[in-house]
Amino acid sequence: MRKKNEFYIYTSMWMIAVIILLVLLVQNLGDARVVNYSGIVRGATQKLVKEEISGYPDDKLIDRLDGIIANLQAGDGEFNLRRNGDKDYQDQLARLKELWEEMKREIQLVRLGEVSVNNLYELSQIHFKEADEMVLLAEQSSVRKLLKSIGIYTATLLLSIAAFTIVNRRNRRMLEKSIHTDNLTGILNRDGFKAEAASLLRRYPDNRYCLIEFDIDDFKFLNTSYGYEQGDRLLCALADCIQSKYNGDQLCARISSDDFVILVKQSPELVDELRNLLADTLYVEFLNISEFITFTIGAYEIPEDCGNIQSVMDKANMAHKNAKAEGKSISLWYDEMLLDKLNWENHLTKRMRKALGNGEFKMYLQPKYSLDDLKIRNAEALVRWDIPDEGTVCPDQFIPLFERNGSIAEIDFYILEKACAYIRKYLDIFETEFHISVNFSRVTIYQQRCYSTILEITDRFQIPHNCIEIEITESAFNGISELIVQKIRNLQKEGFMISMDDFGSGYSSLNLLNKLPIQVLKLDQEFLREYGTEGKAKNVISCVTELAHTLDMKVVCEGVEKQEHVDFLKKIGCDYGQGYFFSKPIPEEEFLAKLEQSARELAN
Ligand code: C2E
Ligand code: CA
Ligand code: CA
Repeated sequence: MRKKNEFYIYTSMWMIAVIILLVLLVQNLGDARVVNYSGIVRGATQKLVKEEISGYPDDKLIDRLDGIIANLQAGDGEFNLRRNGDKDYQDQLARLKELWEEMKREIQLVRLGEVSVNNLYELSQIHFKEADEMVLLAEQSSVRKLLKSIGIYTATLLLSIAAFTIVNRRNRRMLEKSIHTDNLTGILNRDGFKAEAASLLRRYPDNRYCLIEFDIDDFKFLNTSYGYEQGDRLLCALADCIQSKYNGDQLCARISSDDFVILVKQSPELVDELRNLLADTLYVEFLNISEFITFTIGAYEIPEDCGNIQSVMDKANMAHKNAKAEGKSISLWYDEMLLDKLNWENHLTKRMRKALGNGEFKMYLQPKYSLDDLKIRNAEALVRWDIPDEGTVCPDQFIPLFERNGSIAEIDFYILEKACAYIRKYLDIFETEFHISVNFSRVTIYQQRCYSTILEITDRFQIPHNCIEIEITESAFNGISELIVQKIRNLQKEGFMISMDDFGSGYSSLNLLNKLPIQVLKLDQEFLREYGTEGKAKNVISCVTELAHTLDMKVVCEGVEKQEHVDFLKKIGCDYGQGYFFSKPIPEEEFLAKLEQSARELAN
């Protein structure tokens, strides 16, 4: 609508300019005719006098001159001459008219032979001078008018150009604003932030700034649990809150779904302040969200010579990503070590496929001991990566990385194959079953092909399904869909054992235990780590064990490092123990020897 109006305004402005130009042209032509006819009066009078003196009267020419002069005076007549309104010109014309009348009377006297031609000749000389002056005045007034008109025309033109530029600029500003604004929250978006932050850093070179990137932990989960409308309200409230705090020579923006950035002046309490601010907002605004909302923060202290804004944003983003990889509610500052870590991870990512083909990934086995008779009952398969010339890399260094890029499933299935091959070998040699538990990442479990691949691998090695235990970490069950639960149930129906790993490490809901198809509960090592220091840890272990037993689950306690742990676990009736007290994870060949020894001991 506005565009249409502007189109009409511009068109009429240009039309007015064209009309003014046409009027000027017509006026100019009219003035030229006045100058021309003023010249004719001058020349024709001289011609007439010459003819009269030579005895050739010319009444026609006299009439013509009468007509021209009358037309020049009145601006209306047969010669189509416009009246020149210039006062000097009209005064001169009036004088010339008087002279002309006198000349006409003299001509009559000459024709009658009453006077000599001398007087007429003299009058003609005076007439010529006066007519000359009149032509000059006509020219001057025409030039003046022309200049005036050109002035008006130029002013109109300049005015329209100025109006055009102002409107255009305003439109551009509005467009820029809409391109740079986040539709949902009304604060800057990524592009807007980049532009404004770059200019802010230029404008305040003496301020020391930090760039903070943060997001809401499990925002997806909040969205699906409380609805997108509520999620949007949360984002808007956060945006309002940071906008009102970080303005003036500070900036904030929403750069993607629940990712926000803030360009803030450096201060030691900066991150704590932000956390308090966000917590306060949530407290006021979202009492109906019963979830405990946390934030993950990445921060970068911008040095004086910071390069371009993109590289600054990349660094804050790197810190944020790494903070997210470490867990929830984490704050992490960017430093060069992070860059080293990133380079290392890049190196691992690039190598991973080749390493799988080269057999660089090894299965280590850590036994689980029955706390009844302290003998090996089964084992957990744990991956190690032996990189030639670089040494052994522990899973903590690459599992989170491969979980992020999705390739963890290839490792999990590879280790499952290794475990199956091991059980097969054991079956063939000892004609008895051996159980191994295999870790499955949340990413793998959520893959469509996960269930069919597990079946395909175990069937390929002809492994009884009950020999495989599938360990899924507790956090993987957080927000799990009914479809996945159903698939896990199907695996259980197929005979696989399902265990919940690292129980107690996250925000576990005891209700989950009731709902999920779990046969084994693996208590997180943290419980035993706190055994000596936290009085409550013992109670928790014994209560959880009791609860698990009432739900028909076996309990494995991880991180058994001392005799004291064993004694306690035995006392409370925990089923299995796993930890350095019994054995570290060891290569499969070494494990076989250990198993043989344990079998011998069992036989005796
Ligand atoms: P997890 O499944 O909880 O495995 C137990 C970890 O605790 C192992 O670390 C083991 O070496 C360590 N551990 C066992 N006993 C003790 C003890 O007494 N004291 C201490 N301090 N540590 C003990 P590891 O092998 O470094 O594995 C770390 C994590 O990596 C595993 O934790 C598991 O979540 C993951 N992981 C290992 N292998 C795989 C795999 O093949 N696939 C997947 N998805 N994850 C794996
Ligand atoms: Ca495990
Ligand atoms: Ca564990």
